[in-house]
Amino acid sequence: MKSKRSIQPKKIHPGTYPLSGLLKCPQCGSVMVQGNSSQKYKYYQCNKNKSSGKSACSSNLIKKNYAEEYVLEAVLSQINTLNLSPLLQAITISNLNSNLVSLEDEVKILKKALEKVEKKIIDLYKLFNAEDEDERISTETFTLLVKEAEKEKKRDQQRLNELNERIALQKDLNLSQNINFVVDDFISFYQLISDEDKKLLFHNLIKEIHITKGSTTKERKIKEIIYHFLPENMNTLLSA
Ligand SMILES: [Zn+2]
Repeated sequence: MKSKRSIQPKKIHPGTYPLSGLLKCPQCGSVMVQGNSSQKYKYYQCNKNKSSGKSACSSNLIKKNYAEEYVLEAVLSQINTLNLSPLLQAITISNLNSNLVSLEDEVKILKKALEKVEKKIIDLYKLFNAEDEDERISTETFTLLVKEAEKEKKRDQQRLNELNERIALQKDLNLSQNINFVVDDFISFYQLISDEDKKLLFHNLIKEIHITKGSTTKERKIKEIIYHFLPENMNTLLSA
């Protein structure tokens, strides 16, 4: 993050709680949902407490504004840790795209070669079983030629798998560039999308959010955010 920007999302629909279902109650572990909040003070609240009352669990309120701002900041810095710039300096977009085209051309050629060798194997079987003795090939010849053809087929298949893997990786790299682009404008992007989309966005990135026990609402803070994706894994993949 270049600077600490003020992220106060516009509240068009004040009733929406994008972290609903992600925050976990520090006491009972059930999800936290929209609390019985006033217009001025808004909270997330333990769902068990909300539905079954105080005997089931305490409310364990956490401030809505604090939680959402904290999570948004954390998501931003998490995306930034992907740090794709060194890689992207080495490989330009045009390189990626032209490389992709030549890889895809090679796939086409290989697929044709595979079809050809498969046809060759079928033809060899036909010759081996030919009615006409003059046409028929001996067991030795048949075995030798089929073996050769199978070897060729295996080699082509392996190369095809390699190419497909490389194409998939390159497509991922292009995608990563889009991620980088989104980071720069993430806040404006976040402010533009609907509250429903904000909820969807958080739920797509985050598995769950743990909060501290804290004896008062003010003391209750976010302890840990568990993501669906692991950025460190992504970096390992990219440097491979
Ligand atoms: Zn609870």
